[in-house]
Amino acid sequence: MEQDIRLGDIVVLKKGHPCGENKWQIVRFGADCKIKCLGCGRIVLIDRPTLKKKIKKVIERQNEESAG
Ligand SMILES: [Zn+2]
Repeated sequence: MEQDIRLGDIVVLKKGHPCGENKWQIVRFGADCKIKCLGCGRIVLIDRPTLKKKIKKVIERQNEESAG
């Protein structure tokens, strides 16, 4: 089953960053994605299929705007 991920989500990956943190925020979501390590702030470029495979779970979802 594919992970439903969106810009701004906080995710846990199957493998953590060498800094010891394993929470990442999606800072760009497209054909190529960028994820930011919440431990050290480093941004990693990753393609979307690889990112989806690496995600263990989404732990924080941006609230959807229902207005409009
Ligand atoms: Zn890090």
